[in-house]
Amino acid sequence: MKVDEKFANLKEDLEGLREEQKSIEKQSRKLEGKILELYTLYSISKTLSLSHQLDDLFNGMMEVLGNTLGIDEYCLMLLEGEYLIIKVAHGFSEDITKIRFHLDEGISGKVASSGKSLLIHDVSKEKDFLYYKGLKRDIGSFLSVPLVAGGNVIGVLNTHRTKKNAFKKEDLDFFAAVSEHVTVAIEKARLFEKTKEDAAKDELTQLYNRRFFFEKLGKEMKRSKRYKKVFSIVMLDIDYFKVYNDLYGHLQGDSALRQTARVVQQNLRGEDTVARFGGEEFILLLPEIGREGAVTVAEKVRSCIAEEKNVGEELLPGGKLTASFGVASYPEDGEEGLQLIDVADKALYLSKQKGRNRVFSSSDLP
Ligand code: GH3
Ligand code: MG
Ligand code: MG
Repeated sequence: MKVDEKFANLKEDLEGLREEQKSIEKQSRKLEGKILELYTLYSISKTLSLSHQLDDLFNGMMEVLGNTLGIDEYCLMLLEGEYLIIKVAHGFSEDITKIRFHLDEGISGKVASSGKSLLIHDVSKEKDFLYYKGLKRDIGSFLSVPLVAGGNVIGVLNTHRTKKNAFKKEDLDFFAAVSEHVTVAIEKARLFEKTKEDAAKDELTQLYNRRFFFEKLGKEMKRSKRYKKVFSIVMLDIDYFKVYNDLYGHLQGDSALRQTARVVQQNLRGEDTVARFGGEEFILLLPEIGREGAVTVAEKVRSCIAEEKNVGEELLPGGKLTASFGVASYPEDGEEGLQLIDVADKALYLSKQKGRNRVFSSSDLP
């Protein structure tokens, strides 16, 4: 072989090697990208798995989407009934939590009802695009993925950019993977909250149970001591309930208990706590209400229970299902929870002695 020929062959080999190098470099960049994506997903699931409560989780998500992914415009909505409710949002100048979307509204509604992601390169061409009901006008491109748990859509995760054509197909895949991690975290936090809630509730009446009440009482005591506030507790016990059970059986008794629990609950403020203290006894915690106010509340509950129609109550002594009440207040009746309960119990006992279906407080005790 001539030198020239050899040289030409070498040159050809070199070209080939260069091509190969380019392709390897391209593969390597792709792999690096994938590793980064995987690492990002890993750190997302790590951050989110630390949150057991939904509120913590939403804060964690802000961090993940904003800091880890560098997305500055996003919105997470969860499905409540037929509406998508905004839980986390960033990059909006107005208060976006005011609005919500029905399942048949806008792109988010479409994604939620179909369970399919949508990538819109130019939203101005999309007639269903609502610009968050006019609250966010500067959107060029838009990406929306459903959050799907066990085959059901539980919400939607949106992200958008001011420019048109700002997302690639790969962004959609990646965002879908992010949404899977978010969904798992949400489901886990929900389960945790439900388990906690169930553990605090009485099964029959769905009121809080005694254990939860004591926890709440302890906290209220601390708070009231610290801020020099008053609060009251009210104990009530259904009158002649044994007679009612004997007349109509335990199942009918259970139903009357549930009905009475509902009446009590309907008469309280959101900040009050009502618990089932024992068999047919309930206990109320009324923050920032002194003795006089608590007697008024107890009177109202008493008369509502007496007015409520219960099946077969006419055969009870007095002709209706009623309850007796005892009221005690912090700090005048005691600086310990058990002391207050003891005083309320004594006042309740007095109500029973004086004929039932009435309210007595510590001020009536000898
Ligand atoms: P008083 O007016 O003195 O309170 O009379 P009472 O009959 O209500 O009081 P007593 O303590 O003698 O009886 C309470 C009754 O409440 C007896 C018990 O069977 C009934 N009870 C307690 N828990 C439940 C329950 O979960 N379901 C039903 N159906 N009855 C219950
Ligand atoms: Mg009792
Ligand atoms: Mg009773």
